[in-house]
Amino acid sequence: MLESFHANLAMPVLEKNYWLETLPMPPAQSARDLPENIDVAVVGGGFCGLSAALALVKRGVSVAVLEAETIGWGASCRNGGMVLTGMKLPVPTLIRRYGREVVRKMHAASLETIDCVEQIVREENIDCNFARCGHLEVACKQSHFDAYAESAALIQREFHHRQRIVSKSDLRAEIGSDIYFGGMVDETSAGLNPARYVSGLGHAARHAGACLYDHTRVEKIQPQSQNTARKFLVHTSRGAVTAREVILASGAYTTSATPALREKIIPIGSYIIATEALQPDLAREVSPRNRMIYDSKHFLYYYRLTPDNRMLFGGRAAFFPETESTIRQSADILRRGMIHVYPQLRDTQVEYVWGGTLDFTLDVMPHAGKIDEMYFAAGFAGHGVAAATWFGTKLAGMICGQTDTTPFSTIPFPTAPFGLRSGHTWALPLAGLWYRILDFFT
Ligand SMILES: Cc1cc2nc3c(=O)[nH]c(=O)nc-3n(C[C@H](O)[C@H](O)[C@H](O)COP(=O)(O)OP(=O)(O)OC[C@H]3O[C@@H](n4cnc5c(N)ncnc54)[C@H](O)[C@@H]3O)c2cc1C
Repeated sequence: MLESFHANLAMPVLEKNYWLETLPMPPAQSARDLPENIDVAVVGGGFCGLSAALALVKRGVSVAVLEAETIGWGASCRNGGMVLTGMKLPVPTLIRRYGREVVRKMHAASLETIDCVEQIVREENIDCNFARCGHLEVACKQSHFDAYAESAALIQREFHHRQRIVSKSDLRAEIGSDIYFGGMVDETSAGLNPARYVSGLGHAARHAGACLYDHTRVEKIQPQSQNTARKFLVHTSRGAVTAREVILASGAYTTSATPALREKIIPIGSYIIATEALQPDLAREVSPRNRMIYDSKHFLYYYRLTPDNRMLFGGRAAFFPETESTIRQSADILRRGMIHVYPQLRDTQVEYVWGGTLDFTLDVMPHAGKIDEMYFAAGFAGHGVAAATWFGTKLAGMICGQTDTTPFSTIPFPTAPFGLRSGHTWALPLAGLWYRILDFFT
């Protein structure tokens, strides 16, 4: 039994990101020398930093994107490529916390984030398989399914946004699995290939005039005053640059170079496996409508077909950020999870496994605005494909003098408890245990 299990991992499983294999060209190359002065220095070359850079250079602002690794190296090329409506927390929780009016604006913003991705993909001609395929949330318990009806009615009433409830008996039209109690479909959501998307964003930003610097780690940022003007001296592994404004777009990978932001971020590992390409009949059976799918647990699984019909199956197999050993353990855990959902994939080879780190915050909300006088956006959790892109463009607008109208910059931004925050994550397994207990009882 154990032998055949390991055999189907197509040993040795490549600890390799499947999406990166699909890139038609390498990520945008580094510009040569750092300039002495720049209008805006952007820390981090993911969806957020690159969309900010693109929007800024299009308005005539000079931009240097400073990326410690390669362009798109962080969560932006490692994710599931699900471009989802809504936010991480359920609407009733959000309304209790922030009130109806604020949540109405938040929900509208969540729909705008997807339009924003679609518009950039279309305008910049980014070949990344963007498609409005919709998402399917599946209920792991009867009580979760019962809550779908209430939630869909609330969202229809408050936001005039339609989600469709799918009973257990109709679920086979949506998913080739019998383990769930029903589902909820949102047709507005989309899917894309994240590595192609972030790579396309990088090329578009560069083409429009942004200077991208890879292997350029920001080590320290010092505010400076010259006469009445305030500037920043940004020290990097390749020298220093003086910037009028700084955008922190470093997500879950935020370092001690920006301590005030770092202590707000809870970095949580998430892992993905990808199988060999499925035969067309089997692919149609497991996901007849090619949805982006996730389940209703706190410790959830998310999954989808890739454009070449591989099953891409992800989850929080380990809570710690990715290391060689958490990635290896995750391959086993996720394959077992996949077969629980889809017994028909028992003999399907797993060919890829990789991990990445998500930027959570204590209140599980995205936040944006200014911290230590620098612009920032973070806390996208599992909604960052669309949200990070949108927040990047919003930060660019603010730098160009637009009023900050996002409903997220006025909500309190709590500091993460010691033990969960970036750089000190020893208590993360306890958080993982807590969510497993919640999944058992709720
Ligand atoms: C496995 C996984 C699955 C996911 N699935 C989904 C999904 O299906 N849908 C969804 O919407 N979201 C998903 N997410 C979340 C989403 O990928 C992220 O929220 C989003 O990519 C964040 O983008 P970003 O630009 O803010 O950060 P990132 O893409 O992480 O980029 C930050 C960059 O900053 C750089 N950096 C950090 N510090 C410094 C420094 N000091 N100097 C220079 N550079 C620095 C890092 O090297 C990194 O490249 C997933 C995440 C993971 C890990």
